[in-house]
Amino acid sequence: MKKKLDLECTQEGFANGVAPGFPLNDQEKSDMIEQATKAYGKFLDALKCDWRNDPNSNDTPRRVAKAYVNDLWAGRYTAMSPITSFPSDGYDGIVIERNIPLTSMCSHHHQTIGGVVHIGYITSEKGTVVGLSKLNRIVEHFGRRGAIQEQLTTAIHQAVDKICEDNLGVIITIVATHNCVSCRGIKHKGAAMVTTKASGVFRHNGNDARQEFFNSLKINNGGHQI
Ligand SMILES: [Zn+2]
Repeated sequence: MKKKLDLECTQEGFANGVAPGFPLNDQEKSDMIEQATKAYGKFLDALKCDWRNDPNSNDTPRRVAKAYVNDLWAGRYTAMSPITSFPSDGYDGIVIERNIPLTSMCSHHHQTIGGVVHIGYITSEKGTVVGLSKLNRIVEHFGRRGAIQEQLTTAIHQAVDKICEDNLGVIITIVATHNCVSCRGIKHKGAAMVTTKASGVFRHNGNDARQEFFNSLKINNGGHQI
C-alpha cells in the first residue's frame, strides 16, 4: 500500500527543517537558484576572490547555488515520494538494512558529513514492513539538508517508527566523519561519530534484539564496525 505520511519532525524555517512553502515547485527552485547565485558572488567578492576573471570560477556561484538546491539541501525543498509498506503476513523477526550511504552537512559549519546509516526494526505479526529502498529514501530526505548528527538520527528514527505501524521497536545507528573536524579547527582526520537512537525492544542495553542488531553489523561489514 502506498501511503502519504507526514514524516517531518523538524520545524519549518528552522535550518534543519523544510523551507517555508515546502515543497517548492520548479519555478520557485529556479528563482531561489538565481538569488543564491547573486549572493554567493557577493560572498566571494567579500573574500577578495577574482572569480569573474577566472574561467574555472566565473560560473562557480551558479554551480554552488544549484548544488545546494538540487543536491546538498534537496530534502528542504523537495518532497519524498509516497512510502510503500506491506502487511508483515505473520513475520515477526528483525529486519535490518545496514551500510546505507549518508551524505549530509553539519548545520554549525556547513561542511559535509559522510558515513553510513544502519536501520533495524521488528514488526509485529499484524504490522507492516517497508519496501527496502524506502529506507534509503528516508536517509536521503533527512540527510540532504543542514543537520547535526543527533537530530538526523532522531529524524530517521521517527520516520521509520511512523511508517512501520505497530512495530515492536526501531533502532538507528549512524557512523559518520565530519569535515568540520578533519578540515578546520582541530583538523583531525579519521575521527568518527557514532549515534544510536532506539525504541521498544531495542531500548535497553544487553537485550537480545539490540545484541542481534549490533552483531549483524559486524558480519562482512565493509570495515564499518562499531
Ligand atoms: Zn560542524
